[in-house]
Amino acid sequence: MLTAPPEATEQLFPLPTASRRARPPGRRPPGFRPLAIRGDRCKGCELCIAACPHQALALDRSVVNPLGYHPVRLVDPSACTSCAICARVCPDAVFTVYAAPKVAA
Ligand code: SF4
Ligand code: SF4
Repeated sequence: MLTAPPEATEQLFPLPTASRRARPPGRRPPGFRPLAIRGDRCKGCELCIAACPHQALALDRSVVNPLGYHPVRLVDPSACTSCAICARVCPDAVFTVYAAPKVAA
Protein backbone atom coordinates (compact mmCIF):
# COMPACT_ATOMS: atom_id res chain seq x y z
CA MET A 1 0.00 0.00 0.00
CA LEU A 2 1.26 3.49 -0.83
CA THR A 3 1.98 5.95 1.94
CA ALA A 4 2.58 9.66 1.69
CA PRO A 5 6.21 10.78 2.03
CA PRO A 6 6.92 12.75 5.25
CA GLU A 7 7.15 16.08 3.40
CA ALA A 8 3.69 15.52 1.88
CA THR A 9 2.27 14.77 5.33
CA GLU A 10 3.81 17.97 6.63
CA GLN A 11 2.15 19.93 3.86
CA LEU A 12 -1.21 18.32 4.45
CA PHE A 13 -1.14 18.53 8.25
CA PRO A 14 1.11 21.43 9.24
CA LEU A 15 1.46 21.79 12.98
CA PRO A 16 3.39 24.10 15.24
CA THR A 17 6.67 22.55 16.35
CA ALA A 18 5.62 22.55 20.02
CA SER A 19 2.81 20.05 19.43
CA ARG A 20 5.27 17.57 17.91
CA ARG A 21 7.49 17.54 20.96
CA ALA A 22 7.53 14.36 23.00
CA ARG A 23 6.75 14.72 26.66
CA PRO A 24 9.72 14.38 28.96
CA PRO A 25 10.03 10.82 30.27
CA GLY A 26 8.45 10.18 33.64
CA ARG A 27 5.64 12.76 33.27
CA ARG A 28 2.95 10.16 32.61
CA PRO A 29 1.44 7.80 35.14
CA PRO A 30 2.56 4.18 34.71
CA GLY A 31 0.23 2.19 32.47
CA PHE A 32 -1.41 5.30 30.96
CA ARG A 33 -2.82 4.54 27.49
CA PRO A 34 -3.23 7.67 25.37
CA LEU A 35 -5.45 6.05 22.74
CA ALA A 36 -8.53 3.87 22.60
CA ILE A 37 -8.63 2.19 19.19
CA ARG A 38 -11.79 0.72 17.64
CA GLY A 39 -9.95 -1.84 15.55
CA ASP A 40 -13.23 -3.27 14.28
CA ARG A 41 -13.84 -0.03 12.32
CA CYS A 42 -10.36 0.23 10.79
CA LYS A 43 -9.95 -0.38 7.07
CA GLY A 44 -6.16 -0.33 7.08
CA CYS A 45 -5.75 2.73 4.86
CA GLU A 46 -2.60 3.80 6.81
CA LEU A 47 -3.46 7.52 6.71
CA CYS A 48 -2.94 7.73 10.46
CA ILE A 49 0.37 5.87 10.28
CA ALA A 50 1.72 8.33 7.71
CA ALA A 51 0.44 11.31 9.70
CA CYS A 52 1.71 10.33 13.15
CA PRO A 53 4.78 12.50 13.82
CA HIS A 54 6.21 9.97 16.29
CA GLN A 55 5.83 6.68 14.37
CA ALA A 56 3.71 5.33 17.21
CA LEU A 57 1.24 3.43 15.00
CA ALA A 58 1.45 0.37 12.74
CA LEU A 59 -0.90 -2.16 11.20
CA ASP A 60 -1.27 -5.33 13.24
CA ARG A 61 -0.68 -7.97 10.60
CA SER A 62 -1.42 -10.76 13.07
CA VAL A 63 -5.10 -9.71 13.22
CA VAL A 64 -7.89 -9.53 10.63
CA ASN A 65 -10.90 -7.50 11.75
CA PRO A 66 -14.56 -8.20 10.83
CA LEU A 67 -14.18 -5.93 7.77
CA GLY A 68 -11.33 -8.08 6.49
CA TYR A 69 -8.48 -5.65 7.17
CA HIS A 70 -5.41 -5.61 9.39
CA PRO A 71 -6.32 -2.96 11.98
CA VAL A 72 -4.03 -0.26 13.29
CA ARG A 73 -2.31 -0.67 16.65
CA LEU A 74 -0.44 1.64 19.00
CA VAL A 75 3.03 0.10 18.92
CA ASP A 76 4.83 2.68 21.03
CA PRO A 77 2.61 4.19 23.75
CA SER A 78 5.55 6.06 25.30
CA ALA A 79 6.12 7.94 22.01
CA CYS A 80 2.51 9.09 21.71
CA THR A 81 2.01 12.72 22.76
CA SER A 82 -1.83 12.70 22.52
CA CYS A 83 -1.55 15.23 19.68
CA ALA A 84 -4.68 13.67 18.08
CA ILE A 85 -3.46 14.02 14.49
CA CYS A 86 -4.36 10.37 13.93
CA ALA A 87 -7.93 11.05 15.07
CA ARG A 88 -8.17 14.08 12.79
CA VAL A 89 -7.09 12.22 9.65
CA CYS A 90 -8.92 8.94 10.24
CA PRO A 91 -12.05 8.77 8.07
CA ASP A 92 -13.63 6.07 10.23
CA ALA A 93 -13.57 7.53 13.76
CA VAL A 94 -11.34 4.77 15.03
CA PHE A 95 -9.48 6.78 17.68
CA THR A 96 -10.38 8.30 21.01
CA VAL A 97 -7.44 10.30 22.36
CA TYR A 98 -6.82 10.93 26.05
CA ALA A 99 -4.57 13.60 27.48
CA ALA A 100 -2.30 12.37 30.23
CA PRO A 101 -3.31 13.44 33.72
CA LYS A 102 -0.83 15.90 35.20
CA VAL A 103 1.72 14.30 37.50
CA ALA A 104 3.50 16.34 40.15
CA ALA A 105 7.16 16.89 39.25
S1 SF4 B 1 -2.07 10.99 19.17
FE1 SF4 B 1 -1.93 9.73 17.30
S2 SF4 B 1 -0.76 10.98 15.84
FE2 SF4 B 1 -0.40 11.86 17.88
S3 SF4 B 1 1.48 10.85 18.61
FE3 SF4 B 1 -0.26 9.64 19.38
S4 SF4 B 1 -0.55 8.03 17.82
FE4 SF4 B 1 0.71 9.63 16.89
S1 SF4 C 1 -7.31 3.91 11.99
FE1 SF4 C 1 -8.37 5.10 10.40
S2 SF4 C 1 -6.75 6.20 9.28
FE2 SF4 C 1 -5.76 4.57 10.48
S3 SF4 C 1 -5.58 2.82 9.07
FE3 SF4 C 1 -7.50 2.57 10.21
S4 SF4 C 1 -9.11 3.53 8.96
FE4 SF4 C 1 -7.10 4.27 8.19
